[in-house]
Amino acid sequence: MNVNSKVRVFESARTGAVARETIGPDGTVRRSNETRRRTGAIARGLTSVGGVEVQIVPTHRPYDVQLLEGIHDPDYIAFLMSRSETLKVGEVVYEHEFIAREVQPDTPIVQGVFSSALAAAQCAAFASRVAVQSESATYALCRPPGHHAGYRFMGGYCYLNNAAVAAKTMRDYGISKVAVLDIDFHFGNGTLDIIKRQKDMMFGSIHCSTKKAFPSLGYEASAQAPHILCGFESEPSESEYLATIDEILSCFMKNGSEGLVVSTGYDIVKDDPHGGWTIQPEFFKLIAERLPQNGPVCLVQEGGYALESLAECSRNLILGLTRSETAVSE
Ligand SMILES: [Zn+2]
Repeated sequence: MNVNSKVRVFESARTGAVARETIGPDGTVRRSNETRRRTGAIARGLTSVGGVEVQIVPTHRPYDVQLLEGIHDPDYIAFLMSRSETLKVGEVVYEHEFIAREVQPDTPIVQGVFSSALAAAQCAAFASRVAVQSESATYALCRPPGHHAGYRFMGGYCYLNNAAVAAKTMRDYGISKVAVLDIDFHFGNGTLDIIKRQKDMMFGSIHCSTKKAFPSLGYEASAQAPHILCGFESEPSESEYLATIDEILSCFMKNGSEGLVVSTGYDIVKDDPHGGWTIQPEFFKLIAERLPQNGPVCLVQEGGYALESLAECSRNLILGLTRSETAVSE
């Protein structure tokens, strides 16, 4: 990616419904923070940089679930699809067999949610393919997010793992070794669960330790080399954070990684309702400046719920990605 090059941004088609409620840590039902307003704010920030436009990725029926092969258990896909199709409007299902261990069932299945989740996965696949073909960076503004969805489990607003789909797509299009870097505040338990089953894929994560935050104690212990999990029990300084990114990217390089997927969460930022750190939106410029300039690089949307800050976060991220001091012109 050259200086001042544009980053192509793709957004998932809004083909289905999403859950409007969730269950909080105290066990009570509450309004979901995973709203249309948040992706709208992120899109606003991305397009505030000159020349960046958002392209909606079309989806279609019958469902093309081929892109999920090897990523999710066929039984899980069949279950999610059939429950999502047969529920009535307003019905919610929390309890079923496809919940991650040690995680409470917090994410309901509602009518049409499979269609939404599949559209997000298709967006990730599309953006990833463009990144490979153009050897550049692309951004998949996926909704719902995906990194808490594992091989046969869902949770944390996630149903299908968009980042894993993006990684698989890179491999399908000729990139032999692919790495996934996860910078969401929360540990991507689903992504690790899927990536560790794949050959020639690596996972690296910087997150709040699961001793302190969702998805709970125990998951990090299941990672082995080449995967690298950096869970901070207290908020890292900016220099600690950036040094950790450098360390992970350096490990990816040493392992021969040729393509990079970045699970991009903005919930490390100050005042995020699901976060707890005090990082400023401008920090995303510094984070993005660490990412490789030569593609393929595919950023995939994960969390980020501080509505007032999201546009600044995404704007700074694009500025860093394009190594820009100011807005990039056409
Ligand atoms: Zn998160």
